[in-house]
Amino acid sequence: MKLRTYSLKLPLAHAFTISRESMDWQTSIIVELEHDGIRGYGEVTENEFYGHPRSAILASIDRAVPLLDAYVTGDPLELFDSLLAAVDGDTFAASAIDMAAHDWQGKKLGLPTWKVWGLQWRDVPSSSYTIGIDTIPAMIAKLQEQPDWPIYKIKLGTSHDLEIVRQLRDQTNARFRVDANCAWTAKQTVENSTALRDLGVEFIEQPLPQSAPLEDKRWVYQHSSLPIIADEDCQIPTDVARCAEFYHGINVKICKCGGLTPGLNMLREARQLGLRTMVGCMVESSIGISGAAQLLPLLDYADLDGAVLLAHEPAAGVVVAAGQISEPTTAGTGARLLTDRLAEYLLP
Ligand SMILES: [Mg+2]
Repeated sequence: MKLRTYSLKLPLAHAFTISRESMDWQTSIIVELEHDGIRGYGEVTENEFYGHPRSAILASIDRAVPLLDAYVTGDPLELFDSLLAAVDGDTFAASAIDMAAHDWQGKKLGLPTWKVWGLQWRDVPSSSYTIGIDTIPAMIAKLQEQPDWPIYKIKLGTSHDLEIVRQLRDQTNARFRVDANCAWTAKQTVENSTALRDLGVEFIEQPLPQSAPLEDKRWVYQHSSLPIIADEDCQIPTDVARCAEFYHGINVKICKCGGLTPGLNMLREARQLGLRTMVGCMVESSIGISGAAQLLPLLDYADLDGAVLLAHEPAAGVVVAAGQISEPTTAGTGARLLTDRLAEYLLP
């Protein structure tokens, strides 16, 4: 099986700010696995915050090459442990290869990946649209630009978080979710939770830093007026059981856990533990979103607006239109690379 990588510079529709950084384009690595005239695609984006620059991801991907022929007849679900070992535990590199292998397998079998996994496409949640931190007028403008979404996820972590939500609430009756990206204290979280509940917010994502004392996380879990969803605290499969003690649900990110295989396992375990389930995304192309969308039948909440946040992209696949994601019927994940448009995005 042949492996190719494409490093892309994806332009954002708007500069995107969370509590720790701001950016106006995203570096993405597309993995293409080819065998028998079938091409499978996976994607991972560079993330300096989590210590994953492009050079390191590419070096890890190279280390997986000797394993790739096993995917010709092998099941990506069963090959995952070997893959993770081959890339020395680099979950970012593993995630792009694992996703491409699932896409290739589905295309080979002529089935959408979610069907290969035996899932049923029913009661699938709509996706939220994320509004990054900015001035309040700019956040209102972002909401007004995408007026038809049923749910908005609002990034918080400023000195005036409640005022942001109040002013956005004046604009729409849509459901809100908030993501504090580790910026709050326990006391702030519990205080904010009541005000936010009254403003029609349905949960708070990762209010406390990963380093916060466990007794603070437990106190928030017990006293919050809203469900608390783990994100930064729930990155890999072994985090799930621990999160069940301090969180009402988990947000799985494919790049952090290592791919669709561990994502599938984490979501199944979370459901068994009574946790609510969510899959989030990075700012990424329709290739990564198409992969993540295969997990929708296992989700209570979806946050798959990553490709909508791009100005334009050289990829296509599952479409997230005003939050609605229709049943993917294309074989594999449905991801396609638009090779005729690739040149303007390629990084040297
Ligand atoms: Mg988050």
